[in-house]
Amino acid sequence: MGKNIYIHIPFCERKCPYCDFYSITDRSASSTYVDALIKEAEAFSKSGVRPDHNDSQDTLYIGGGTPSSIDAKDIARLVDAVKDLFRLSDDSEITIEVNPSSLTADKAAIYRDAGINRVSMGVQSLDDNVLRTLGRLHDSEGAKRAIGILQEVFDNISCDLMSGIPGQSLDSLIRSAEELLSFGIKHVSCYSLSLEEGTVFEKRYRDQIEDLVPPETEREMYHRVREVLASGGLMPYEISNSACPGYESRHNLNYWAGGNYYAFGAAAAGYLQDIRFTHPASLSDYLMAADEVTAEAVREYFDKAKDKSDLIVTTDIMTEEEKIREYPFLALRTNAGMSIARFNELYGQDLLDVFGEAISKNTEAGLLVREGDRIFLTSEGFDFADKVIRDMI
Ligand code: SF4
Repeated sequence: MGKNIYIHIPFCERKCPYCDFYSITDRSASSTYVDALIKEAEAFSKSGVRPDHNDSQDTLYIGGGTPSSIDAKDIARLVDAVKDLFRLSDDSEITIEVNPSSLTADKAAIYRDAGINRVSMGVQSLDDNVLRTLGRLHDSEGAKRAIGILQEVFDNISCDLMSGIPGQSLDSLIRSAEELLSFGIKHVSCYSLSLEEGTVFEKRYRDQIEDLVPPETEREMYHRVREVLASGGLMPYEISNSACPGYESRHNLNYWAGGNYYAFGAAAAGYLQDIRFTHPASLSDYLMAADEVTAEAVREYFDKAKDKSDLIVTTDIMTEEEKIREYPFLALRTNAGMSIARFNELYGQDLLDVFGEAISKNTEAGLLVREGDRIFLTSEGFDFADKVIRDMI
């Protein structure tokens, strides 16, 4: 059974005005933080707490924040330690998130030498006006330079794009997607802007909705960018992700399949032994808790499904019914959709009995379609994914 591990690096060079992920700009404690991550990983690896069901392959995903904003040698010793502690297989997918403004050729080489084999870069756009609106530290030339650096070292490169940015046109988004294709990028994630509570963007645009991209244009952007990427060989395989065959993110596929995963670091969220849990979204709280963590404490937490600990601040024990209801929420995000056989095997119930009514209603409405074992969203269905999923919850 594969082991899937998420590690959060909560440091960024500057806070982007639209972002609500936990991250801070003071990076002075980043080496100490990596020490704490290794300590936590060691406690979990020795605790005996294991995944219940998973993707068959090992994956390690170092996300953030901006992992490339800290010393690459710290990243290398983190990867070394985790590979060793969890005995990750040689064919593991090991991903790191980077930003163009903090990536250098030296860092890319250190990542490769540590065994990282997949890089996900926050490009967001190749239009300087859009990048300025987003408050990004890089411009389009910087992004292209960073793509060049990565391509010297890595084959498996993913780039993020954003749609629905105030002032962004459909043409601008499509040109960015086409440029990524022209560079030979094999995986693209395209996320729609959403105004997250407490962000600068939320305050700025809450009362200026006329500055936002109208919903119908936003939907057009969504469909057109998927079509353009598909025409370049990157097939959509999830609501926001398109990839050349074989370049899909194995780490995220496990997540969408309802698989278990370890999670280490401040604000990191994991899922093990029927428990969804989160770590403190505070660097100082995390450092204090990780300093005291032991394998016994981790084992006791999971065995007794304790409410809370200093290291784990929220606990959601998934009942069988909740896991069943969560299945369409995760599976319908993917183009593969829900598998009747997999559901029946996992939960010992017939998917068509459990969700039959909602499936029929949405199939008649043209939002779902069944092909053999699979039931998945139609192209129109992706516009109403939230509604279809709500019908099943
Ligand atoms: S670089 Fe990424 S994680 Fe950091 S503030 Fe910007 S969007 Fe958020």
